[in-house]
Amino acid sequence: EAKNEGSGKIKVFRQRMLEKLQESRTLEHDMALAIVNKEFVVYYQPIVDSFSQKIYSYEALIRWIHPLKGLLSPDHFIPVAEKTGMINEMGKAVLELACREAACWAVPAKISVNVSPVQLSSKAFAGIVLSILKETGLPPDRLELEVTESSLFTESTTPMNTLNKLRALGVKISIDDFGTGYSSLSRLSRLAFDKIKIDKSFVHSISTQEDALNIIKLITGMAKSLNMKAVAEGVETQEQLERLQALGCDFAQGYLFGKPQPCIDERIRNG
Ligand code: C2E
Ligand code: MG
Ligand code: MG
Ligand code: MG
Repeated sequence: EAKNEGSGKIKVFRQRMLEKLQESRTLEHDMALAIVNKEFVVYYQPIVDSFSQKIYSYEALIRWIHPLKGLLSPDHFIPVAEKTGMINEMGKAVLELACREAACWAVPAKISVNVSPVQLSSKAFAGIVLSILKETGLPPDRLELEVTESSLFTESTTPMNTLNKLRALGVKISIDDFGTGYSSLSRLSRLAFDKIKIDKSFVHSISTQEDALNIIKLITGMAKSLNMKAVAEGVETQEQLERLQALGCDFAQGYLFGKPQPCIDERIRNG
C-alpha cells in the first residue's frame, strides 16, 4: 500500500512537471509569435532629482500586450526569454525603440534601458549599442544602461570590457537592484559605475525597519565615496522621499512621481 502511495506521488509529480514544461513551451511559442505580431511595447517611468524633483531620466520598461492574457509584466516572460536566448533580439528592439523615442524629445532627459546578463555576455553587444546610437542620432551621454550585479558574477571578462568600452564613449552605467545580489566591493570600485540603484525592498521598509534605513545609509555613503550617484527605486510616499533626502540620496523613482506609462508627455515631446 505504501508503495502504491509512493508511485502515486511520482505520478502527480510527473504530471506537474509535464504541465510546467507545456506551459513554458507555450510561452516560448507565444513569445516568438508576439515578436512577429509586435505585441511587445515599451512603457516609460520618470527618474527625478530627489531635491528639485526635476525629471532626470525615463526608464524604459518592457510590457507584453498579450491578445488573451492582457498586459503581462516582464517578470513573467524575461526569464523564459533569457533561457531561450530570445532576450538578445528583444533587448535590441527595446534599446532601438527607446533611443529613437528619446532622440526626438525636446528636453535633454536621459533614457535608461535594462540590459540582461545574457546580452552583456555577448561580445556583439557593444557594437549593437553603438550602431543603434549612430542610427538614432542619440548622443551617447543620454543613454544609461542598467545592469544587475549578477551580470558581473562571472569569470568572463566580456561584460566588464563591454561596460568599460561603452562608458569611455560617454554611455552611463547604473547597477540595478543593488543590495539584493552578491557584488564584491572591490569589483564595484574597479568598474566605476555612474549610479547605484537601491532596490525597492529597502525603500519600502525605510520607515518601519531600522535595518533597511541603515542599509540605505550605507549604500548612499558608499556611492558618495566611490564618486557615484545613488538612486532610490520604488518611492511611493512623501515620508519615504523625505527620509531619502535626509540621507542624501540623489535621485528617486516610483509611483510618487509617476507610474510607467506608454506615452511620453506632450511637453517633453514638443517642448
Ligand atoms: P527594474 O529594472 O528594477 O525596474 C523597476 C521595477 O519597479 C519596474 O517593474 C517598475 O514598474 C517597478 N516600480 C517602479 N516604481 C514602483 C513603485 O513605486 N512601487 C512598486 N511596487 N514598484 C515600482 P516592472 O516594469 O514590472 O519590471 C520588472 C523588472 O523587469 C525590471 O526591474 C527589470 O529588471 C526587468 N525589465 C523590464 N524591462 C526590461 C527590458 O527591456 N530588458 C530587460 N532585460 N529587463 C527588463
Ligand atoms: Mg531597471
Ligand atoms: Mg531596479
Ligand atoms: Mg527591480
